[in-house]
Amino acid sequence: MIIVLSKEHKEYLIWFKPEILQTINWAGNPEKPVLISPDNVETISPRNSFEAWSQTVYGISLPWTLEEIESVQRLKEEILYVINLKAGAIKLLNEKLRQAYEELDTFSYTVSHDLKNPIAAIKGYAELLERNNSIGQQAQKIAGRIGERITKMNFLINAVLDYAHLGRLDINYKRINAKVLIEDIVNDLDLEHNPEKLIITINELPDLYGDRVMMSQVFTNLISNAIKYSRNASPAIINISATDNENEILYSIKDNGLGILQKDLHIIFDLFNRMENARQIEGSGVGLAIVKRIVEKHNGRLWVESIVGEGSVFYVAFKKELPIMNALDIN
Ligand code: ADP
Repeated sequence: MIIVLSKEHKEYLIWFKPEILQTINWAGNPEKPVLISPDNVETISPRNSFEAWSQTVYGISLPWTLEEIESVQRLKEEILYVINLKAGAIKLLNEKLRQAYEELDTFSYTVSHDLKNPIAAIKGYAELLERNNSIGQQAQKIAGRIGERITKMNFLINAVLDYAHLGRLDINYKRINAKVLIEDIVNDLDLEHNPEKLIITINELPDLYGDRVMMSQVFTNLISNAIKYSRNASPAIINISATDNENEILYSIKDNGLGILQKDLHIIFDLFNRMENARQIEGSGVGLAIVKRIVEKHNGRLWVESIVGEGSVFYVAFKKELPIMNALDIN
């Protein structure tokens, strides 16, 4: 007996009854073949004895009783009732979570935004002091340091603003020529063309569907990280390629840089997390959190494989199909 809880999720409850072997006694073998005479007349041959003909029946259980059927129907109603109740509670929680996220985004956005003016003022005063010879060299040096830290703070605030801003943006799906996008990004990075120091290979890359601005952020962050964290390799070798799977396109950005410890692989995508071996290199710890947020917004997947001292490969996979709600705009 089977009850269907959800066809969509392929959830069923199935009961089995054991096989009951039965021996049935017949007056004769009902399957006994009919005799055909030479002139094509079918005749039933008479039995030669009165012995009962017995047959063993396999693969059959006792039939389900009415009580059993009714109990299963009641059980199904109970289960569906509980599932609906839980689904309602989860929906409510989801809605609360969404609101909390929105509030958090608005909060970070407002705070970072409001901090910009006082910070700009402090930076201005620090610069004035640094140029004021009457306060003495030592004080001027300190004023210079204040200016440097303020620049760093500004950089962090802008990163948080970018991150919070993402939560408010809707995706404007477009078909994007990934090869052109990535070539533009690499050109815009304005790198020194010195093949002894840096070799970037861009392989054939299939088009992708996504928000052009957000995709540009994803690849800019991943490529600039690959360059930044392989600075010490000579030469640094960056390889950008893609594979076309059944329903996803998988892009990979490979470098031969510092690498990441296995234990850290899952935390590098969290906000402000910077690894011990990257401390010497300038950064905010926001870039990969932005990448993660954009990829999740596009229902894509993101992960990294890495060996310390050998390098890392960052993977991003995007669905090939465009979500139905959005109009297709090919350009
Ligand atoms: P940032 O680069 O500004 O520090 P990210 O969020 O982009 O911030 O990266 C977080 C951390 O992940 C980095 O500080 C670094 O420790 C590590 N990381 C990211 N990309 C790489 C890479 N290609 N190779 C080695 N480490 C990396």
